[in-house]
Amino acid sequence: MRARLLAGLFVAASIPANAADAPAPAVPLAGVREACESIGGRLGSVEIHECLDAGLKIGDGASVRGEPLMYRDYLPRSRRAVPHRVLLLGGIHGDEFSAVSVVFDWMQRLQHERFQPFYWRVIPSANPDGLLSHPATRMNAHGVDLNRNFPTPNWKADAMAYWIGRTRRDPRRYPGPSALSEPETRWLLQQIRSFHPDAIVSVHAPYGVLDYDGPHDPPQQFGYLRLHLLGTYPGSLGNYAGVNMNLPVITLELPHAGIMPTPAQSQRIWGDMLAWLQQNLPEKKPAPLYMRLPDVSWDAE
Ligand SMILES: [Zn+2]
Repeated sequence: MRARLLAGLFVAASIPANAADAPAPAVPLAGVREACESIGGRLGSVEIHECLDAGLKIGDGASVRGEPLMYRDYLPRSRRAVPHRVLLLGGIHGDEFSAVSVVFDWMQRLQHERFQPFYWRVIPSANPDGLLSHPATRMNAHGVDLNRNFPTPNWKADAMAYWIGRTRRDPRRYPGPSALSEPETRWLLQQIRSFHPDAIVSVHAPYGVLDYDGPHDPPQQFGYLRLHLLGTYPGSLGNYAGVNMNLPVITLELPHAGIMPTPAQSQRIWGDMLAWLQQNLPEKKPAPLYMRLPDVSWDAE
């Protein structure tokens, strides 16, 4: 018995040596200040102090190059028994600068909004290596399009076939060697699984439209962005969360990657989006009473 146990331990201990090509653990190499200096240095519309004032936290993951993956939670400011949770992502494609900038703009609104009813998790720059590369890239530092790397059903067969057959091996749309091969995608999936969003908003550019995956009738218009369904792709976030998890996934495509919407345009998109979310997310049932009360022993007295 003891021999068998030791043999088992030996096998377990030998696994790391056999997996010599496994990626190093993704640990953030920089703090929030350094990350904000990089982001502020790259984006004309985000000052370093605005990034620092956003109160971002470093998540327990990092990009391929060790850039921190940062997020900020905002609690609801109106009374609702069970608030809806919304996950807001910017810059999953690193060369879409306006997508990151507009999310920073909305974080300022969230900071000052007096009655907003949602519990938000905001990730303004989901692909920091792509954003900070010279020149910036759509893909991460492994050359993978993170928005094709989510584990949709039949990823292995479909994602590569799509890339070869439909995109003719467009390097900007390479889905990666396997689903979830990238640390950024794994971290984003972890956020979805731990935060349990009721809706996801992902900001892109430059198609100038509003795209939607998931249940409910799609929104028709947010500000100057009108509904135009772009279709689903193997490995995309909209396909994974919208189609497979049945979550509303709103994809905002700003019209220019390098030009921010005006403050008025940004405000209109934001306001229309909040109104749509309020009207369309189904009422959440409170948790059963036994789950909300502390474990009280009535015999104690
Ligand atoms: Zn994009």
